[in-house]
Amino acid sequence: MRAQCGNERKYAGVHYCQSSIIASQLIRVDEISGKCNLDQRLGGKVTDNCCSRCFRDTSIRKHIRLNEMMGNCEYCKSENAPIMDVGKVGHFIRHGIWRAYETVDDVPGNLRSGDEVSALNVLLYEEEIFSTRLENLNKSEHLAEDLLTESAPNPHDGDVDELEGGDGFLYTKDGLYGLDYNIFNRSWDIFNYSTKHISRFFDVPKAKTRKKLLNTLNKITFSKMRRSLPVGTKLYRARVSPGPLPSDLVDLQGQLGPAPETLAKNNRMSPPGIGYMYCSEDMKTCLDEIRAVIGEKYWVGEFTLTNSLKIIDIGLEPNLRLKSIFNVRYNHEMLWARNFVRGFSTDISIPIAPGDAPLEYVPTQVVAEYLRHRGNDGIRFASSLAPNKYNVTLFRLAESTSGHIYESVPEALIFYKTMYLSTVYLVEVNSDGSPQVLQTERFSESSYSSLRNRSEGDF
Ligand SMILES: [Zn+2]
Repeated sequence: MRAQCGNERKYAGVHYCQSSIIASQLIRVDEISGKCNLDQRLGGKVTDNCCSRCFRDTSIRKHIRLNEMMGNCEYCKSENAPIMDVGKVGHFIRHGIWRAYETVDDVPGNLRSGDEVSALNVLLYEEEIFSTRLENLNKSEHLAEDLLTESAPNPHDGDVDELEGGDGFLYTKDGLYGLDYNIFNRSWDIFNYSTKHISRFFDVPKAKTRKKLLNTLNKITFSKMRRSLPVGTKLYRARVSPGPLPSDLVDLQGQLGPAPETLAKNNRMSPPGIGYMYCSEDMKTCLDEIRAVIGEKYWVGEFTLTNSLKIIDIGLEPNLRLKSIFNVRYNHEMLWARNFVRGFSTDISIPIAPGDAPLEYVPTQVVAEYLRHRGNDGIRFASSLAPNKYNVTLFRLAESTSGHIYESVPEALIFYKTMYLSTVYLVEVNSDGSPQVLQTERFSESSYSSLRNRSEGDF
């Protein structure tokens, strides 16, 4: 009986080295010696097989199954499982690692933050590729080492293993901003810093990441968070009551509408002098947002949309789950997108405390203006003061007026093209925080018709 390769398989009547079949490089087993070229290349060493059941990661499991090789696993001890040479699986895993990580050598020393992680720990803890079965057998580390050492380039060929068999350190790819400051892998922080301390209105030549980031984000996130607020939607605004409700519509609208541009203060989404309309979706949230005090009286305006509006709904976080780095369709930019949207969403929901440094509002103001520039009318976002309640900030109204907005009949009619003040309430806040309505003034669309007649009469 002739010698055995020990790792061979009969395929179409000819004996081939099993490892070579997996590598799609059919190498015949020498009929006399039982050795194959692949064995020689590996110094006569035949590496072990791991199996799909060793892994939790579905892309790796699928890769192993596609090789249609069944056998026993040296690691998790599965029998008759889809198996593959551990060095070949290691090659596949290395491709995935380079989709999402870069070596410490790629990062200038002054930017290193101490957040580097070893290649072994990337597999074990960052990407968590191994199955519970393997972990329970305490074999994960063993397999991780074999995957990286058995797939390492041959030093005799002059190749250097950048992963150093698993001991090499890695950073998340592009996680370090290539400028002269040091922030790791938190794109919202990078954007914040850039708009506050590097350049405000335009990207300076070295910092093109910001514009690229916003364009990428719009494509993969904001454009998927766009929806319309239909005609008839009701939005609320409140202010401390200066006295009983006046009956004049234009007067009330002026008092409850967005701040006139001369009085528009620095705000989360609008800089001084630009008046956005900050609303809530219900009366109680609106009072919570202005920190209404128990026993105090407030005017609450209910506005009804006369036109549908395009908004970016930050309350609807799109499905930004990243694919496995071992999936060929893994898109590393999504990592930035996810961090950015979460950071932006958190920051615009934070209540504005009196005395906050105006600088803190700059990043959210820049994003809001970018979204407005893309043709959106506003942003809907979660209230941080009222759980599961939402606020809406509208940009559009600032464009529709000039001068003393909403306080004249013509301005009120321009306002009507977007919405109208349908009801005004005088409320007092009860001890449990709920509003008690003391007085109500309702306005119908016909109230605006009479305004229109008044307006025509004026001219
Ligand atoms: Zn296994």
